[in-house]
Amino acid sequence: MSTAIRNVMLDKLKTLNSTQIDELIFRYAVPANLIPREANIISKALVFIRYAEQEDKKLSKLSYMLDEILGQKSQLQSYPSRQDVVNKKLIVGIDVGTAKIASGVIEFNETTMGYNEFPRKIIEHNNIAIGEPNLVDRLAFIVKETVYHSGLELNDIYRVGIGLPGQVDYNLGLLKYAPGLRLRDIQVSQKLRRKLKIDVRCDNDVNCSTLAELKYGYGKQFSNFVCVFVGFGIGAGIVHNSSLVHGDAFAGEVGHIKIDCSDSARLCTCESRGCFEEYASARAIKEFASTKIRYVKERKIDSLLMSMDADSVTPEDIVSALEKGDLIALELAEQIAKYLALGLSNIVHVIHPKAIILGGGIIDGFYNLDFFVSLVAKFFKENTLNALSNTQLLRTEFEGKTASILGASLLCLDE
Ligand SMILES: [Zn+2]
Repeated sequence: MSTAIRNVMLDKLKTLNSTQIDELIFRYAVPANLIPREANIISKALVFIRYAEQEDKKLSKLSYMLDEILGQKSQLQSYPSRQDVVNKKLIVGIDVGTAKIASGVIEFNETTMGYNEFPRKIIEHNNIAIGEPNLVDRLAFIVKETVYHSGLELNDIYRVGIGLPGQVDYNLGLLKYAPGLRLRDIQVSQKLRRKLKIDVRCDNDVNCSTLAELKYGYGKQFSNFVCVFVGFGIGAGIVHNSSLVHGDAFAGEVGHIKIDCSDSARLCTCESRGCFEEYASARAIKEFASTKIRYVKERKIDSLLMSMDADSVTPEDIVSALEKGDLIALELAEQIAKYLALGLSNIVHVIHPKAIILGGGIIDGFYNLDFFVSLVAKFFKENTLNALSNTQLLRTEFEGKTASILGASLLCLDE
């Protein structure tokens, strides 16, 4: 690194605040043992520059990250002054997804103050980011960033609530297994509480969304309902007598209800075969779509799927072909609707809820198509006992990650 570049970088580094420099150190994967724990910004900047000099090939990455982090300053929104929020209980709600982590500060009086999205770097940061200490470190950064972006200070925060994509023991604050993140047995609440000195609650992400439905969504009108979210996997939140049901700990893992016991049943991330989510989740749709694309290409069938790549097709590509009336895409939609309806019917036969509220990235796309909704309803009726088939199928009214962030913050209202 030339002296001139070094000085420019150092000057920029010195303009960062402590949250920003910690974020940069984390993102740039500077080994933790190089940074003295109580170091000030200047000494952290010097350590950083020394490390960057040894890793010269990463210089463009550093420059990009620096600009990105400095750029965030201009995105600061105006929020009530600190005086306005003193004495109010403010909660940081975090939704940890398999593609992104989203977070926001929610006011105790239930008015959303801010909403920020963070690209999830956990898996992209490979060696430094995968694994237990790094998930908690990452969450600690996100809490600080969220607070900072909301014009607040950490000691304004009452509690932190987190929705995690996997099996979560709410009472222990334990992430038992998150297949999408490849993480197991992490004491998230306890470790993050220790780091931040703030009380932390966590639950499964769909349970969090279900709490938001119960308090603010369609769930307000039902004392018994189930939320089913279809994304990377399929999960459910069960509400009985207006309370979320955890069972012994992990109730609602409907993605692993078996719907195929044949020898060719699909292998699931849980290592079992024939699970519901292997037939109707985002990754199932992608697999089915790939098979269809290969089929139309082999037989040279006139279909929009001809122009798609079997390895990189997305559910959105299929929705787009469906909107244009493609017949092969329609066959695929029927296949998905059938499996989705079958799984929903199995849930209804066990608990007969008043309604099933559907959500998740996949549902957003497919459920905008009226005929897909009617296909699911038709197959649902065909598979469900007449007396139980009055369960209403609804689509959540919440957009994007709002429900899970809001729901994660609602975890914090329990004593
Ligand atoms: Zn499974």
